[in-house]
Amino acid sequence: MGLRELAHAKDINGETLGKILKYLSTRGSDQIIGFEETLLAGLAPDGGLYVPAEWPAVWNGPDTRRLSYAEDAARLMEPFVNGEIDSAALNAITRDAYSEFQHKDVAPLVEIGDGHWLLELFHGPTLSFKDFALQVLSRLFDHVLQRKGERLTVIGATSGDTGSAAIAACQGRSNLDIFVLHPLGLISDVQRRQMTSVVAENVHNIAIEGTFDDCQRLVKAMFNDRAFRYDLALAAINSINWARILAQVVYYHVAASRLNDWPPTFAVPTGNFGDVYAGYVAHRTGLPVKRLIVATNRNDILTQSLTTGKHWLGDVTPTITPSMDIQVASNFERLLFEIYDRNGVEISRRMEALGSDGGFTIEAERLNKARTLFTGIAIDETLTLAEMGRVHAETGLLIDPHTAVGVAAARTFVTTENGPVISLATADPAKFPDSVERATGRRPKTPERLAEALVSDEHCDVLPRDLNTLQAYIRSRSRVGT
Ligand SMILES: *Cc1c(COP(=O)(O)O)cnc(C)c1O
Repeated sequence: MGLRELAHAKDINGETLGKILKYLSTRGSDQIIGFEETLLAGLAPDGGLYVPAEWPAVWNGPDTRRLSYAEDAARLMEPFVNGEIDSAALNAITRDAYSEFQHKDVAPLVEIGDGHWLLELFHGPTLSFKDFALQVLSRLFDHVLQRKGERLTVIGATSGDTGSAAIAACQGRSNLDIFVLHPLGLISDVQRRQMTSVVAENVHNIAIEGTFDDCQRLVKAMFNDRAFRYDLALAAINSINWARILAQVVYYHVAASRLNDWPPTFAVPTGNFGDVYAGYVAHRTGLPVKRLIVATNRNDILTQSLTTGKHWLGDVTPTITPSMDIQVASNFERLLFEIYDRNGVEISRRMEALGSDGGFTIEAERLNKARTLFTGIAIDETLTLAEMGRVHAETGLLIDPHTAVGVAAARTFVTTENGPVISLATADPAKFPDSVERATGRRPKTPERLAEALVSDEHCDVLPRDLNTLQAYIRSRSRVGT
């Protein structure tokens, strides 16, 4: 099927196959596919994640052209989409997607200290940065499906914010049915209500009796069940889907292009390693980046990995930053692929060890490659709350606890000689009002977009942590094939 897709891409471009950007799996199978197929496939058939076979250079230097965010997004995504979706269609998709955002800059930069900037990524429909990718992803799905006259069953696991962003982006689309798994009782009330308050025939909320890692494992297991996957035409909305990463690369470029001073350090509150990996992609596509700070909460497997090389799974501890309560950070596999010189066999072996032994150790020479760019810093709840208090006292701004983890990590790392720092503000404080009030004594105002969700009836089914039960549930409700 790879070849057919490539031939198709050749027809469109009239160019040689060698010039077309292809995608390959991190687990070493030799199958090579095009953008549209990575979009629809999500997970590779060998269990790996898709990455581009090479890195196009897209960095344009400082922003002198003053494109709109949507225009920049289309420009930056185009080399990865490779003519499979034409330029006009791609521009229409990003224009439409980012018109849902309530700030004119879409991703505004706000200075909170000398050379320390917040990149506000929470002005989308569900008030977290997840909207940046999911508003685009649902439209990409729609575009491709309309052309093919097909339907998809979209499935995903959420540690809180992905679910609502995906549901908001997919609700009411006649060619998609969406099933979102969340860990029962382990996400905030606001996060849950943003999902379960949605009334749409194609939206299905499932609370799983388990953790986020269990939800993510179930999603991967459904993708690895070939018959199920093809019968239902499964598509992924988690950051295992390359297109999601791609949409997030954009704001790194856009934010940096607005600074006068380079190269910036980015501080990124991290759970699944998706957002910070997008920063890595920005760097590989030409953006000058001084350092990427991987800020974790006490579920700090990534900080441990980056400091000691030990990548061993522990138990997940619930924290005030639920969207980062993760041990199995899927996208870390994409970084491992790079530091192991793109040797998929080595990655396969380590991912097997993760499943069978609970982890593996990264050799020092490999780890050093990651450490030239990445620094892992874990921030506990006391520091997180103190940071929220400090930012409020110094600037009058309320920040959400996830954002505070990144800002606090930046503060422990950065001195003035380090140059500018951009801390990614990943959620609106109103999504986590209790923590914000605890830290600052102020309760954030409930935005209009949230108010209705907080009082509506909830629609959700509770299922055990069991693959068969879940598959039967989805089979009986998906409209694919009917
Ligand atoms: C999802 C999320 C994160 C973590 O992002 P990853 O891509 O999983 O690393 C951080 N903050 C918030 C508010 C989130 O929703």
